Amino acid sequence: MLDVIVIGAGAAGLAAARRLEAARATYVVLEAKDRIGGRTVTDTATLGAPVDLGGHWLHSPAANPLTPLVDRYGFHLRRSAEDFRFAQDGRVLDAAENAACAAYIDHCFDKIAVAGAERVDCAVADLFPFHGKWHGMFEAAFTAKQGVTPRDASAQDFARYVWEGDDLPVLDGLGALVARHAEGLEVRLRTPATRVAWGKAGGVAVETPQGALQARAVIIAVPVGVLAAEIIRFDPPLPDWKLGAIADLPMGSCNKVAFAFGSNVFGDLADVMLMPDLGPDRSVELVIREGGRDTATVMFNGPSAKALAAEGADASADYALSVLASLFGNEIRRAAGKQFVVADWDHDPWIRGCYTAARLGAAEARARLARPVEDRLFFAGEATHDRFMGDVHGAHLSGEAAADAVRAVIRR
Ligand SMILES: Cc1cc2nc3c(=O)[nH]c(=O)nc-3n(C[C@H](O)[C@H](O)[C@H](O)COP(=O)(O)OP(=O)(O)OC[C@H]3O[C@@H](n4cnc5c(N)ncnc54)[C@H](O)[C@@H]3O)c2cc1C
Repeated sequence: MLDVIVIGAGAAGLAAARRLEAARATYVVLEAKDRIGGRTVTDTATLGAPVDLGGHWLHSPAANPLTPLVDRYGFHLRRSAEDFRFAQDGRVLDAAENAACAAYIDHCFDKIAVAGAERVDCAVADLFPFHGKWHGMFEAAFTAKQGVTPRDASAQDFARYVWEGDDLPVLDGLGALVARHAEGLEVRLRTPATRVAWGKAGGVAVETPQGALQARAVIIAVPVGVLAAEIIRFDPPLPDWKLGAIADLPMGSCNKVAFAFGSNVFGDLADVMLMPDLGPDRSVELVIREGGRDTATVMFNGPSAKALAAEGADASADYALSVLASLFGNEIRRAAGKQFVVADWDHDPWIRGCYTAARLGAAEARARLARPVEDRLFFAGEATHDRFMGDVHGAHLSGEAAADAVRAVIRR
């Protein structure tokens, strides 16, 4: 019998495995897909430049355990702050307007922090009865950050999120970095867990299409959307308090389309994150010429991103090009080669969204999701972290914490 079975080879499951390996515990990671990394994966083949389909930036870099890995593995980080620009009515704002818009957005995020400190829970939208000129931009920026609109977001949940310092992109791909750090770990690909039998004395049995495995404990590091869809059957069923936590943490939406251009089609814009004002329900961010490459990644956020993804890859690419054309002219359609990269996380059966946002009044759900069940079922993943929820480093730290908690139990 193994000490631990880890279900899910995303940042959380892989960090748990790394920790278990260092402690010489016996373990295996079961992964449903044919690759590791989960919501971190870098496509290097399609555009001739690395494109992160999921996580890309190191947030809160000073506190981020992945920051030191960049140098350790010879990767490259752009160490300067994101140059955040805004566009309205088809034009990029001038410097003074841009500064005013950025200041308004900062003010709104500060207001959420104040609500958090005062322990007020309400929809983020309710904190703003009056809308300034730039309020649409704040709503788009918020939706980009949490994957749900301010109407659907808990102020208390977001206020707990720690976001300090600059967002630094891993130029060779954050997905590639996570995969590099996982080299040598014991992972079984194409092996989905279908049933977890945890009620009997003597351990836990995990069933897969390739057979069953036994261990003293299990770390469940799959997305909450997978748990909510009951892709894994628990026998006996999970207790009501755990099912409640799963229901209280729905996943938002963030999808991407990336293009390469044969030359510079963006004028003097380079290493820019551009957010156009596309109306109340469209949150789109454009990552332009990152690292000096002639590429653009269009990020769609919130419910409209999910609806667009449902129309398919070609429709997503077409809409992404129309957003670029509205700002940079129709020439851009010809300049974009035939190849593009599309990431649709909503309709990926092993993921089912981008990251979790607690329901209104349910900010405590993250602690409930993280709490083990009878010292046998341990939970990890971005949704379980109390400060870095939604982020790769939150997932990573939660995996390490789950591994430490399991070891404390199995040593007894
Ligand atoms: C578009 C997008 C952009 C993002 N940008 C950033 C960013 O810039 N910076 C940042 O820090 N974070 C970002 N994030 C969030 C970050 O990627 C995630 O929070 C983090 O990677 C989640 O890691 P995880 O281990 O919790 O889950 P996952 O990475 O989802 O891993 C879970 C794994 O479980 C597997 N699985 C599911 N069901 C089963 C089963 N039954 N059996 C076995 N395996 C199963 C899945 O295939 C998956 O590999 C982004 C996410 C998205 C989608």
